[in-house]
Amino acid sequence: SHAAIIARSLGVPAVTGLRDIMQHVRCGSTLLIDGDSGTVILEPTPAQIATFIPLEGAKSDTVVALRTPAGMEVCANASLVEDAHQAHLVNADGIGLFRTEITFLKAERLLTEDEQFEYYHEIVNIMAGKPVTFRLLDVGGDKPLPFMRIQKESNPYLGWRGARFLLGSPDILKPQIRALGRLSKIAPVNIMVPMIVDAVQQQQISSAIVEILQGVEHALENIKIGAMFEVPSACMQAREIFKIVDFGSIGSNDLIQYLFAVDRNNELVSRDYNPDHPILWETLRLLSAASSEAGKPLSICGEMAGRQSVPTRLVQTGITRLSVSPRLIPSVRSEMAGIAGA
Ligand code: PEP
Ligand code: MG
Repeated sequence: SHAAIIARSLGVPAVTGLRDIMQHVRCGSTLLIDGDSGTVILEPTPAQIATFIPLEGAKSDTVVALRTPAGMEVCANASLVEDAHQAHLVNADGIGLFRTEITFLKAERLLTEDEQFEYYHEIVNIMAGKPVTFRLLDVGGDKPLPFMRIQKESNPYLGWRGARFLLGSPDILKPQIRALGRLSKIAPVNIMVPMIVDAVQQQQISSAIVEILQGVEHALENIKIGAMFEVPSACMQAREIFKIVDFGSIGSNDLIQYLFAVDRNNELVSRDYNPDHPILWETLRLLSAASSEAGKPLSICGEMAGRQSVPTRLVQTGITRLSVSPRLIPSVRSEMAGIAGA
């Protein structure tokens, strides 16, 4: 959100702000975006590009050999086959969040049950027996599927999205659940429901999922169903939700947005988007307590989990299962190894 543009090769001065940046960019320009530093390089040189080749450094034996300490987990967030390869390369403990909607976005259409099955199969094959958590199609708000927009909403972030959308779209839910059900005969499958609002809604969608799985032979034996905690009301009902689900995962990107009524993608309000806020950490403690009371696993898959020193605070809060971008796995894992060794 605090983007700076550097365009040494063109003699353009360093500027900040999206509007300034766009004045220098022409159709066909090459941009290199460093999301970690918020830097955009206009017309990068081959040498600049080379320094950004993903995970070159992560191939070293020390990184791959480093194990996550016992009782902890460092999984990868993934959206594409390439992410799964990167996750495997850095020896992730699994995929903690596979964002299935990205494949639909890329295809610009709905995918059939068979197409989904093939795609998800490829992901579990790459992960070679490690657990993969597939998040059901998470549509709406910052993730519109343009080819499906039926009706214009004045407030899409509070509208037809997440679990609500899934419950109201049986023709979309069914093929996805059936594809995952078929996959569960080959590998254990975790199904995660986005944007759960409360226990009643979780019960409704869990029942709908089980009903669909009953039509797929043996599918109920190898599947776990989990809830994402990213809406404050769901966090307040965590105890009740944990009675229904097998696991929970904190989507802190949206949780911060809804907890503090602050748009996760709006540069104007990014100062109020604060992962250090004590209210957020109080909410995380509440979730951690509900998970240990229920004896069911809780992970976190929002971006904050990959920020330096956050893993330490999370472990102190009782949250020991983290899912982060694959390229952050080596540093997160070594931070966790440090805590375990301390
Ligand atoms: C989140 O909300 O924290 C999350 C992991 O999901 P997404 O970023 O895809 O909304
Ligand atoms: Mg989310």
